[in-house]
Amino acid sequence: MPRIARIVVDLALDREFDYLVPDEWVDALKIGSRVAVPFGRREAHGYIVDFVETSPHAGLKSILKPVGTKPLIEEHILRLARWVADYYVAPVELAVRTVLPSAVRHTRASFKEVTMVTPTDLARDPLAVAALRRKAATQARVIDALAAGPAPMPELTDLTGAGSAAIRALARKGFVTIGKRAMRRRPDAGHTVLPTQPLPLMPQQAEALAAIRESVEGVGPPVTLLFGVTGSGKTEVYLQAIDHVIKKGGGCIVLVPEISLTPQTVDRFRSRFGDTIAVLHSELSTGERHDEWHRIHDGEARIAIGPRSAVFAPVRRLGLIVVDEEHEHSYKQEDVPRYNARDVAVMRGRLDGCAVVLGSATPSLESFHNAQRGKYRLVRMPHRVDHREMPVMRIVDLRQEMEKEGRLNVLSRDLKEAIQSRIERAEQTILFLNRRGFATSLVCPSCGTVARCEHCSVAMTYHKPTDRLLCHICGAQQAVPERCPNPECKDPSFKYAGIGTQRVEETLRKVFPKARIARMDSDTMTRKDAYRKTLGAFRAGQIDVLIGTQMIAKGLDFPGVTLVGVVQADMSLHLPDFRAGERTFQLLTQVAGRAGRGDREGEVIVQTFSPFHPAIQAARRLDYDGFAAEELEFRRELGYPPFGRLAVITLRCAQEELVKLTGVALAEKIVAAAGPETRTAGPTPAPLAKARGEFRYQIMLRAQTTRRITEPLKAVLREFKWPDAVAWSVDVDALSLL
Ligand code: ADP
Ligand code: ZN
Repeated sequence: MPRIARIVVDLALDREFDYLVPDEWVDALKIGSRVAVPFGRREAHGYIVDFVETSPHAGLKSILKPVGTKPLIEEHILRLARWVADYYVAPVELAVRTVLPSAVRHTRASFKEVTMVTPTDLARDPLAVAALRRKAATQARVIDALAAGPAPMPELTDLTGAGSAAIRALARKGFVTIGKRAMRRRPDAGHTVLPTQPLPLMPQQAEALAAIRESVEGVGPPVTLLFGVTGSGKTEVYLQAIDHVIKKGGGCIVLVPEISLTPQTVDRFRSRFGDTIAVLHSELSTGERHDEWHRIHDGEARIAIGPRSAVFAPVRRLGLIVVDEEHEHSYKQEDVPRYNARDVAVMRGRLDGCAVVLGSATPSLESFHNAQRGKYRLVRMPHRVDHREMPVMRIVDLRQEMEKEGRLNVLSRDLKEAIQSRIERAEQTILFLNRRGFATSLVCPSCGTVARCEHCSVAMTYHKPTDRLLCHICGAQQAVPERCPNPECKDPSFKYAGIGTQRVEETLRKVFPKARIARMDSDTMTRKDAYRKTLGAFRAGQIDVLIGTQMIAKGLDFPGVTLVGVVQADMSLHLPDFRAGERTFQLLTQVAGRAGRGDREGEVIVQTFSPFHPAIQAARRLDYDGFAAEELEFRRELGYPPFGRLAVITLRCAQEELVKLTGVALAEKIVAAAGPETRTAGPTPAPLAKARGEFRYQIMLRAQTTRRITEPLKAVLREFKWPDAVAWSVDVDALSLL
């Protein structure tokens, strides 16, 4: 039977093509091999992503020849890609594509070549050079310029005023050689960092490091959950653990949430490890990404730092993977394959036989549960390095506030006074608004009606500059209604009801006309450097009050901040998601970590309509264990993760009847294929029931293990006849249930 290779061709980016494998290449070609293939009337290059037995296409052409010597994907990373495809129910091609970034796959982004001019021994012969100087002064200047060693041609012509003809003449005379050399684009070129030395560790850090070193040596559980409060010195522990691995000749991967991958963070690593670091940033140009990847692949860089996709970095002799802020939802990829980089890290640790550290001040309940049942080793760092207490958290009951004032103010009296006192003392304030969900929506103060997008069934957001309502999903706009749209209500105060960052800013400017106020959210921060500039100004003390969304909740360290206000904590509490409580707890705890990191004491004021909610109360008491115990009990009773697994199938279509019927047919087949221990619910309209004019239905699958969900699901999907109009996706271990 002829072997057929499935190939991703550089020219046709989002499809695979089948080619026959010629007999002579059967042994040489592997998954990950680069090959030349006939494509239309020309020749193209591509990667083998899979071998299959049969192809739906007739008259296949043959692969022409291999390109390059070794496949770019190592066997063990390929195994990881296959696991991702299998576990997350994704096509293997897409998983292979995920481990091999497009910047590396496409020949267009190959190394940048420069023409280098290298002096020969003749150039160091004083007599020969003197003779040259008499006849050709310009050429002699070139030789002078090369005294320090080889130089790129363009630099040399700039420096000496000699043309390239003069330099070629030198080559003919035997003074220099001219050759092409690959030059690496370094995103950090010209950026130097002062080296730092390892700090003497505090006892809790020393214990953590000892535990991680043990797991690097293969003693004890391979995964360590490092549960350390903000400022407990986790990063220093990572640095010294990495140092240990590097000294043993190994390599490391450090995963950081995209939003925390700031120059500040990277510099802490670079100051310790210099050029052995490669940063895989989403802001890199294609060329830079290509070169950083190859620096890792060639073993020149031994530490890869990056967001979730860095978990696939081709680091040599991997000894340790660090996942910082392991609870972060941004580790989950929202496109196929919908992998969670934290979980992939644990799996890669198993496949590569390396240690894994999951670090957080608010561990995910999944990881905490794994630690409790002994799967992971739990190491706690309960103290801050500077031994200061965590800030006091005060809860303001917005219901009482409304009763007293007769209306809902953005700033309660307590929060207003607290800001006032900070401004007087020249201290800084962060005001935090969690914008997910209904934050900038218009909610009628009388009847609770929300202004919704007619195409998308989500609340529209209010934009002050245009004084219009905008749908963030489909972009639809409309004027702000004069009255509440509910015909029974029609309250005219409706149009003043939204609370968004803009409204917070406006109120602040009115209340504190002299204060220096800045706002940071995805609307104001569309330019890359705007973000850095605002943070720089804030750090320099040029801003009194910084208003922001999630962007400012994490990882930033401002010694001047003594007050953090949460404008409305409920915004993340009432999402239709069983993790809403966990998210709110994490958010409040992280936000509180922003207050009082300098030598002054910090204060946190949380405004909420639900002051007695367990998540808010536990955050106030800084009681992770209490929160986890209660929340895990609730999850256990209902069989939610981590006690069971779930997957969500989402079906989308412009015709509601069709998507619903398709969902019913699919759910029936799954029920028939799965055992009784797999629970199938739906199809039901998704919480986000309509988006961009498409109706969205969900089927929720739950079982004790993932396998009990994915095995029957895959069997059904292989046969299922999808109507052309219906789009669908599977999300295993879904984090967002919208
Ligand atoms: P985390 O990552 O847990 O929030 P960091 O590692 O950022 O904590 O540490 C907080 C601060 O304490 C940093 O400024 C760091 O340089 C400092 N620090 C960490 N460990 C030590 C130590 N052993 N001795 C002195 N300072 C330390
Ligand atoms: Zn819309």
